[in-house]
Amino acid sequence: MHLHWALMKGSNRPERAALEAALVALERDATLPPFEAGVDWDRVRGVLLEAAERLRDNYPYGHPLYVGQMLKPPHPAARLAYALAMTINPNNHALDGGRASSAMEKEAVASLASMFGWSESLGHLCGGGTMANFEALWVGRQERPGRGVAASMQAHYTHSRLSEVLGVPFVGIATDSRGRMDPAALETALASGAIGTVVATLGTTACGAVDPLPEILAVARARGVRVHADAAYGGYFTLARNLEAPARRAFDAAGECDSIVIDPHKHGLQPYGCGAVIFRDPSVGRHYRHDSPYTYFTGRDLHLGEISLECSRPGAAAVALWTTMRLLPPVPAGAFASGLEAGREAALALQREVGADARLVPLMAPELDIVVFTRRGARASQASEANRRIFDAAARHDLHLALASFPRPLVEPSGAVQSWDADSVTCLRACVMKPEHRDWMPEIVTRLKSALDDAA
Ligand SMILES: *Cc1c(COP(=O)(O)O)cnc(C)c1O
Repeated sequence: MHLHWALMKGSNRPERAALEAALVALERDATLPPFEAGVDWDRVRGVLLEAAERLRDNYPYGHPLYVGQMLKPPHPAARLAYALAMTINPNNHALDGGRASSAMEKEAVASLASMFGWSESLGHLCGGGTMANFEALWVGRQERPGRGVAASMQAHYTHSRLSEVLGVPFVGIATDSRGRMDPAALETALASGAIGTVVATLGTTACGAVDPLPEILAVARARGVRVHADAAYGGYFTLARNLEAPARRAFDAAGECDSIVIDPHKHGLQPYGCGAVIFRDPSVGRHYRHDSPYTYFTGRDLHLGEISLECSRPGAAAVALWTTMRLLPPVPAGAFASGLEAGREAALALQREVGADARLVPLMAPELDIVVFTRRGARASQASEANRRIFDAAARHDLHLALASFPRPLVEPSGAVQSWDADSVTCLRACVMKPEHRDWMPEIVTRLKSALDDAA
């Protein structure tokens, strides 16, 4: 497997110079006596080279020809800020473990919250979207004791598992043919009174579907049911100006939800280990109250460990996010938002190309920047097999797609399959989430067509 590190190599020297300057600034006016931990640098160099050998076995995630899974390279500013903070290794559990990085986390989370019009909310960073959703569902259970969770059949698979962990029932709600929750089906499911929290997914992981949030809010509010927005992948698209009307309406209503989850490590240019959960009503902080004998909370300021299920957390993640947001503020029409819009344009271009090729069919129009399509097939199983062949052939052309299984109701309306010998089809999926994907689309399409010819 060959790696394509052109992206990083090009910026290698200025990158090191920037880190060097920041390290000098960080150590300025140090008053403690010099101290060096005993490190055998020859041995370190040796094992680091071993690690480099092992790391060669990877896909080229950072390259525009990688359109497979939801992987977007962190911004160099994020990587550098993370590395800078690692010379301290702060722990954002308590101010005692990371004073500066805790303050930076509060500012970064406030900035995320402001994207949804929230100024008085309560939130924090966490390991990722799963942990963030776990906290939102847990607070939901504390607020509506004994009642369960409803999410669409296309919601992230962890919602049902998290409900299991919380010991509450989970109900999957049917979707329309574009993978969006059906509000009428939700209304039926809520009639029993067993549900306390509805999860609206703003950008499903499989196809980027945006649930109709205004309708979901109306149905849920009528029954006193909480609404949680799982915007782990899609949340930042609230900044984009090129959404279709239904998706726009959904994002515009996000501020009315009780909680929102957004993953800076998905679309926010951050290294892994950076999700966020934010609650509209700061008083839910009372559910976190604990009285641990190890507690080292000093002073009266809010320690993030007082409002988080996780204990130790990387302060470096907060420093990386804070720095990235200073560089690229999350505002409409800004450079960061333009990057999201470019990915969406790339998705629309790919959908057009796929639609124009007689061999292929797009499953649905992309709502964000994920395109799902399939080879036409006489039978469902044949379409799946053909897609697997195209996936392999594309990889041989250095074009890395993903495979994803979609149920019959989401494939059938496309007319791609004539007879059904299986209840799902393994489809091709492209996450065109790098801004560069727009300019690379002609090259991507050329390689896709070569793969189609090879796999014929
Ligand atoms: C990725 C994703 C998750 C899970 O987040 P992790 O950061 O992978 O734990 C949850 N929900 C949605 C919609 C996602 O796209």
